[in-house]
Amino acid sequence: MEALQMYVNGKWEDSSNKEVINVTNPSTGKVMATIPRGDHGEVDRAVNAAKDSFVSEEWRRFKPFERGRLLYDVAGKLKENRDELARLETMDVGKPLSQGYADIDAAIRYFEFYGGAADKVMGDTIPIEDGLIDYVIREPIGVTAHIVPWNYPIQILSRSVAAAIAMGNTVVVKSAEDTPLTASRIAEYFDQTDLPKGVFNHITGYGHEAGAALSSHPLINHLTFTGSVGTGTAVATAATSNVVPVTLELGGKSPNIVFSDCDIDKAVEGVVKAIIQNAGQTCSAGSRLLVEESFKETFLNKLVDRFNTLSVGPALDDYDVGPILNQKQFDRIQDFMALAEQEGTVLTGGKRINYEKYENACYMAPTIIDDLSLNSKLAQEEIFGPVLSVFTFKNEQEAIEMANSTDYGLVTGIWTRDINKAHLLMSRIDSGQVFINNYGAGGGIQMPFGGYKKSGFGREKGWIALYNYTQVKNVAIKFD
Ligand code: NAD
Repeated sequence: MEALQMYVNGKWEDSSNKEVINVTNPSTGKVMATIPRGDHGEVDRAVNAAKDSFVSEEWRRFKPFERGRLLYDVAGKLKENRDELARLETMDVGKPLSQGYADIDAAIRYFEFYGGAADKVMGDTIPIEDGLIDYVIREPIGVTAHIVPWNYPIQILSRSVAAAIAMGNTVVVKSAEDTPLTASRIAEYFDQTDLPKGVFNHITGYGHEAGAALSSHPLINHLTFTGSVGTGTAVATAATSNVVPVTLELGGKSPNIVFSDCDIDKAVEGVVKAIIQNAGQTCSAGSRLLVEESFKETFLNKLVDRFNTLSVGPALDDYDVGPILNQKQFDRIQDFMALAEQEGTVLTGGKRINYEKYENACYMAPTIIDDLSLNSKLAQEEIFGPVLSVFTFKNEQEAIEMANSTDYGLVTGIWTRDINKAHLLMSRIDSGQVFINNYGAGGGIQMPFGGYKKSGFGREKGWIALYNYTQVKNVAIKFD
């Protein structure tokens, strides 16, 4: 069993209270590591170290391309340790091993993408008048805080940390208390590079302790939060009190909209993958199926058959669907299932799957629920399990209204061979990403990602995310 430590100002540390938090393997229900229960004191030291590094001559003199090379060094270490990291992420989160590998590969790409971008973010010149030169430069914003959720730990850490360091900022990460293992490895890799001490810091601990201390710390200059709407609101409130910008990546209730003129086999596969990835514990899960009424029977017959072929089991054995994170998340899903029995029709699944060997682990059969009202909690709220709710529409207008009928707006899938219809829907739906005849574009490191409405604001991923970590300075020079 590993006893992990925090990484503060280039040193490995336990928390001053000496308390630890157990980290459990969702596939077995057994404790496999401990992390320090970091709190205010550690957060304060990490933020101060990041502040001191930010203003240090050593970090300021790092050329942009040298920052990029450091990020490439980390990408190289991720590649060297790909097998170990994929297993760690798989054991930590409970996602099937092939998805663990996909997450490590995405993390490598973030470090490469932002490493390559480090010396390519340019300023502007602005025409004013003869005798006056005006230009705009982008400077780093300062100490950046990164609060990471449990479901995609290495990807979410990598995408914002790599962008922040590429632009010359310093970083304090608070990993999720349930899934901190790969964040700790990233700290090791940074430690092995020439990154000045204090530029990257990693704090472990509970959200209401370490997380709250970090988001309200007065020396933080930018907050990146990924997680639930409730916590995101608290983090944004703390940022407002300190008058600092915040990027919020929150939840979703994303629809897959299926028309009768789609390629049915591709659409079935797309809809299945969109809801079973990471056992549905994905912010961008396609958790609502909106299907054209005249096509419902044909499509659902195929879909239910496909669901019934899905295998469920321990993550390292790479079944189609792994376990639910823990008993608390599982109980939450079961409350939704009780409601489904009352308000709708469960077409398949809905039940726990027991493994004698792992009686403390929580496995759930992939589930489809029909006959729900649009106002049902099952139609409106994130279930965060392998649970798909089905609705039907008669025409394009109704499909648009249904797609927009939740508080969220993260991702939308549209399945049709009619590209005009697809574009009409795309232009009317409130959604940060729209996928036509696919869902996810294979991860899309380069594509801006973020939400409309309560799915958040600001964008992560892609070139645009670099601007989160810069501050604009305008300079005007008068000459005669
Ligand atoms: P969460 O909001 O409970 O926790 C997220 C992080 O915030 C954790 O590190 C936690 O320790 C910390 N935290 C908790 N309370 C805090 C507080 N008071 N102050 C500061 N930090 C605090 O979310 P979760 O359960 O870890 O993740 C699931 C949620 O995240 C889902 O709603 C999911 O949709 C969302 N999510 C969104 C994206 C995205 O990019 N849009 C990606 C992954 C997950």
